[in-house]
Amino acid sequence: MLFDLVDGFGDRNAGIFLQAYRLHDTGAKLLNVALSRAREGIVVFANLTFLDQKLPTDAFLRGVLVEMQRTGQVLDVREILQLRPVADELGSLQSKVELDPEALRTGLFPGPDFDQLWREDLRAAKQSIVIFSGFITPDRVMQLVDVLQERIASGVRVRCVTRPPDRNGTIPESSGRSALLALESIGAVVDLRSEIHEKVVIVDGRVVWFGSLNPLSHTQRTSELMARVDDSEVATHLTGILSLRRRTSDQLAEGRFADAENPRCEKCGSLTVLIRGQYGPFFRCCEKCGWTCSLQNQHRARRR
Ligand SMILES: [Zn+2]
Repeated sequence: MLFDLVDGFGDRNAGIFLQAYRLHDTGAKLLNVALSRAREGIVVFANLTFLDQKLPTDAFLRGVLVEMQRTGQVLDVREILQLRPVADELGSLQSKVELDPEALRTGLFPGPDFDQLWREDLRAAKQSIVIFSGFITPDRVMQLVDVLQERIASGVRVRCVTRPPDRNGTIPESSGRSALLALESIGAVVDLRSEIHEKVVIVDGRVVWFGSLNPLSHTQRTSELMARVDDSEVATHLTGILSLRRRTSDQLAEGRFADAENPRCEKCGSLTVLIRGQYGPFFRCCEKCGWTCSLQNQHRARRR
């Protein structure tokens, strides 16, 4: 069971549920139910300094945290991350790239390290490359086109899932279009989703990159991080979460995760966008020619 509190830096006060101080306040009831369900253990990931600053002095949660610190064990989150040293996993890739020792110990890579390393992973791809990016810029795509094109020519399937030009943040629509066109012109599959926040790269259904950097739009100037895991089970699990429909493990093994999930517009042949509508998810023509199809009907059509 996961109880996720979305409070964070920049918030003026602790969230309304966290401020509860009487037992019958909704927030206190929520916490009570969540914590008392535990049978074997409770793990809390919390910024205790932040909460100490923001929680009202009589907050119910403050008492809970004090009690947990008294009877439980407080670990530095960096110690937990250090349980996953990645030096061995990087194997041959490591010799080609000079990496921050902290990154090697934790498996968390800042932008410049990620840039070098994932490129090596892309170069080593044998079956499939799947990239999820919250945004897309032509500059980033241009930096990747060569390596992707070379892989596609060797039979690797490449799929990029990102936003349509008219939902691509502050990036001009024309830039978004040219970035998508560049990907399509080298033979990559492009699936558009009106809302996408995942930042994930999966290579050969085994090497997974995930974190806070958008692989198809980030610049070197951010302080974001990416984690690398070399584990087919993690890749399969993540693939299941990210897929619109179930895929069998055989399909995953064949690199089918790189197959397009969006249909082409049946009227004008353009790319389509998946939109989470009021009456369920549906695909709409990216060129707004008027064609739409619900996800459900699309699935039925595929089965026929
Ligand atoms: Zn159309």
